[in-house]
Amino acid sequence: MKHFFSILLLLWAVQAFGQKITLHMRNNQTIEYNISEIDSITFDEEVFLNCPDDKHPHAIDLGLPSGTKWCCCNVGASTPDDRGGYYAWGETREKSVYDDVSYIFFEGQDTDGDGRVDQNGSFIDIGLDDIAGTDYDVAHVRMGASWCMPSRAQQNELRNYCTIMGIQQNDVNGILVTGPNGGQIFLPSTGYYWKDTFYDDGKYGNYWSSSRIQTENINVFCLVFNTINSSSWDWDSSRCSFGRSIRPVRKQ
Ligand SMILES: [Zn+2]
Repeated sequence: MKHFFSILLLLWAVQAFGQKITLHMRNNQTIEYNISEIDSITFDEEVFLNCPDDKHPHAIDLGLPSGTKWCCCNVGASTPDDRGGYYAWGETREKSVYDDVSYIFFEGQDTDGDGRVDQNGSFIDIGLDDIAGTDYDVAHVRMGASWCMPSRAQQNELRNYCTIMGIQQNDVNGILVTGPNGGQIFLPSTGYYWKDTFYDDGKYGNYWSSSRIQTENINVFCLVFNTINSSSWDWDSSRCSFGRSIRPVRKQ
């Protein structure tokens, strides 16, 4: 809201006083722009080390080298410990059955009825190795332009720079991820869907990245973790048609 009024004030000032904007810097320098040169003005949203209130989603600063800010909630979740929605990779709606045949990019046949495309078949090639920020990005589509699915590199950075601890939050199993600056997010152990069956709730977390494994149409990188014996996290490649969770990042 504060930013909204700032923009209104700026637009009013431009109309009232002329066709030039002068920025007065703290070091006493001034920078001038002609209005005709400016396409748009944006203001950075606030970031936090932890959720400051219950008005989720928040952008959490974990102190990562890339500057990536992670969302406090999953796509479709109303709180950090809510599992949220389950989506096949590239789809933007939940379903009752997750398999190759129900998959938006299915092509070919499933003659033995096992839910998998016949051998030597494939999915439709959408011509993208990364879907972040596109119409195939469920975070972008459902949460607005500020959010997108994390890339493989962003999930990798999370794993390389943060520590994890298995905890329960409001009776939900998951991991508490702590960044080098002390910022924290909670990732619920969400399990996954194959066909109409839900697997591993409370035991494993399975989160899509936006990055397809190069040259392959069937598998995508995902972040997985285990909260059964000890807490550990790793990479996995997963068939696109499974129903998995998404923890977004703020679009940079
Ligand atoms: Zn939050």
